[in-house]
Amino acid sequence: MDRFTTIIEPFRIKSVEPIRLTTVEERDAHLRDAGYNLFNLHAADVLIDLLTDSGTGAMSSEQWAGIQRGDESYAGSPSWFRFLDAVTELWPFRHVIPTHQGRAAEKILFSVIGGPDKVIPSNTHFDTTRANVEFTGAEAIDLVIAEGREPSTIHPFKGNMDTDALDALIRERGVEHVPVVFVTVTNNSGGGQPVSLANLRAVREVCDRYGIPLFLDACRFAENAWFIREREDGYADTPIPDIVREMASLADGMTMSGKKDALANIGGWLAMNSDTWAEQCRNLLILTEGFPTYGGLSGRDLEAMAAGLREVVQEDYLRYRIRSTAYLGEALLEAGVPCVQPIGGHAVYIDARALLPHIPPLEYPGQSLAAALYREGGIRSVEIGTVMFGLHPDGSETPAPMELVRLAIPRRTYTQSHVDYCIEVIRWVAERASELRGYRIVEQPPALRHFTARFEPIR
Ligand SMILES: *Cc1c(COP(=O)(O)O)cnc(C)c1O
Repeated sequence: MDRFTTIIEPFRIKSVEPIRLTTVEERDAHLRDAGYNLFNLHAADVLIDLLTDSGTGAMSSEQWAGIQRGDESYAGSPSWFRFLDAVTELWPFRHVIPTHQGRAAEKILFSVIGGPDKVIPSNTHFDTTRANVEFTGAEAIDLVIAEGREPSTIHPFKGNMDTDALDALIRERGVEHVPVVFVTVTNNSGGGQPVSLANLRAVREVCDRYGIPLFLDACRFAENAWFIREREDGYADTPIPDIVREMASLADGMTMSGKKDALANIGGWLAMNSDTWAEQCRNLLILTEGFPTYGGLSGRDLEAMAAGLREVVQEDYLRYRIRSTAYLGEALLEAGVPCVQPIGGHAVYIDARALLPHIPPLEYPGQSLAAALYREGGIRSVEIGTVMFGLHPDGSETPAPMELVRLAIPRRTYTQSHVDYCIEVIRWVAERASELRGYRIVEQPPALRHFTARFEPIR
């Protein structure tokens, strides 16, 4: 093994899903029909779909076997107990509450602990987390370290929380207004950047000082554990499951989307040690999701997550996963395409502001690049910039802090030749960057406009 350095996809393919090749002319017509918004495309017209890594991965034969084995008993299904065992083997919290997605776990938790006079700090809240915090009237505050906000600054753990800022916030607002501290691993909205165990310990210390529980938004916990092993002193020989259990030992609970590091297409959970909170959460669960041994899920979904959790902590898988994302990012950097660095775990983020300096932010350089990648090569990505964050509740519009285009990599889904093709397309578009034009919005809703807005190229 050690003699050879090529990192291969650690699986072979048993069932294939054909991709339909399309021409530039066809894609040009699809783009116009979609109002130049890639969310409006038919997925069948996309060649390589890098819109998201959420629920888009390929399941293993073990997971499909679990789908067959799924037991659909309303209460106390064997599938529930297999799921519970798989979760608690890594995350030994006293209570595990299954939900249909991560956001359902968030909705339930914040309904119990949020409210108008509360503030919830995190390194960076994911959009659904922030929305669920704010929906209760509470305030969501991001306290990532300064390096985490700078696209080209290299730091091994750019997802770390600024613990001085956390301490200051708690003192300023008062302990009674901070029901929980959240840490997102890896930091999705910050570019898929990891959080170190040293930082988790430091956050834990601040929490202990004030008696505040620490929860993890653990969606990409396995990728985070891999980065700890690679980059943090003292962990090079620690098995991944042990690193995960060490992360768990520092927390009082977690929210989780099974669509990420449980390698499933749907599912999630909420887990915690507090008996009081768990009881209140279960009462809400029964209202909106279902009985506590299935949440919003079928028995077969629980089986898929149980099997996925055992696979996601395997070293061969993680080595391939993290390496294949870095492979794309490094090839783009080598070709002079500016990207957020270091390359994160689940996605590569192209810096569209740096690549398209001739397009002002309010003409949406990220949207222009994303549209061009689809038109030229059939690649679907997503703008994370002024289209997504520029419109405010009062109707005003300002440039976002960064203009990024995210290429999210579905798990175990595309091969290296797919990625090589993407590299070729992106290089081709980047070489012609000066020819790209900005866009104007011709139709948009008052909030979350990136999903449905329609655009027109500026000639
Ligand atoms: C995807 C995600 C969520 C929400 O999970 P869903 O299953 O999509 O509802 C929450 N936090 C992070 C960091 C995520 O990536």
